[in-house]
Amino acid sequence: MRIEDDSKLDYKDVLIRPKRSTLGSRKDVELSREFTFRNYQSDSEDHYRGIPIMASNMDGVGTFEMADTLASLGLFTCLVKNYEADELISFFSAENSSRRENVAYSTGITAQDFEKFEAVNKQTGSNLKYVCVDVANGYSERFSDFIKQLRDAYPGIVIIAGNVVTGEMTEELVLSGADIVKVGIGPGSVCTTRIQTGVGFPQLSAVIECADSAHGLGGHIIADGGCTCPGDLAKAFAAGADFVMLGGMLAGHDEGGGQVISRYFKTGEVRRNKNGDLEDIVEERKFVNFYGMSSRAANEKHFGGLKEYRSSEGREIQVPYRGEIENTIQNLLGGVRSTCTYAGAKKLKWLSKCTTFVKTNQQFNSVFADK
Ligand code: 5GP
Repeated sequence: MRIEDDSKLDYKDVLIRPKRSTLGSRKDVELSREFTFRNYQSDSEDHYRGIPIMASNMDGVGTFEMADTLASLGLFTCLVKNYEADELISFFSAENSSRRENVAYSTGITAQDFEKFEAVNKQTGSNLKYVCVDVANGYSERFSDFIKQLRDAYPGIVIIAGNVVTGEMTEELVLSGADIVKVGIGPGSVCTTRIQTGVGFPQLSAVIECADSAHGLGGHIIADGGCTCPGDLAKAFAAGADFVMLGGMLAGHDEGGGQVISRYFKTGEVRRNKNGDLEDIVEERKFVNFYGMSSRAANEKHFGGLKEYRSSEGREIQVPYRGEIENTIQNLLGGVRSTCTYAGAKKLKWLSKCTTFVKTNQQFNSVFADK
């Protein structure tokens, strides 16, 4: 047994030091980025261009509708794994170039998963450019073997692989053929892995470490999970993330397709009714179900129940219903733009170079947070 003594940090443990800047306005900040990928082979000059924020491949988030709406705003979506092959074929076959550029097919690593991908890819060809190979624990040899197999079979797709949280495994995945490594074990809003297993790594430090390893080899990373506010996204980019993936922050919107549920709450206030009597004020609030993809709910929905040798590693909750995603995205992008002006970064690309983090014990003043 060994203990690592240097402190590892989460988003909440740091703030970004403001710096003198020549930037006039937030609208001067360029959030779009352009990447070429290390292992992906293509004949043409085929770059990724867009705002590198991704919707997670979670139920209620990584839907077709979310993908189309986010693509129209320049953002990216990893689709949920459980769409049927024919649904995926018709989605990716459509004459819609933003689906090729801003959407990833997601898959697990079983033989059936591989066959399904082969079948879909055969029908959709070059329209299917990004594949997100997603497992909870990216440390198994089987996982890197799957990445090698996929890379050998499909040199012309961009492979996203995860999840890991350390430099050596990031390198292993990039060397196995991944273009983009997904980073995060346990930081997610509906994740209980740390409680169930005691395993994890503080997310900001994981991003710093994995970005360093990936960039050294020409790879890229996604900071996946743990963002609670626009400032956390900015911190992830500042720590070196090329992309940031969001689940909970994008849940509860129309595009996620979940059923909207009304619940009624006594506000604690009273009012006089027509008869002059005091009565409780009752308020309607709307919610949408949201759950982790390793939760009992997800296992029941997709696999007919939780297998007896597994425990649930995800929460099942209700999030407030928030209407259309566009307003939420505007708020997120506004926050990140503002960070860039504080740090003196005219382009999101430069944010990490412009950043000095300061450790803090208090991220914000919460005295009126519930009011
Ligand atoms: P969030 O943005 O909600 O904080 O985190 C989203 C990420 O949490 C997802 O992209 C995925 O990596 C992770 N995640 C989703 N469902 C589960 C789950 O049931 N268990 C665990 N451990 N992680 C999950």
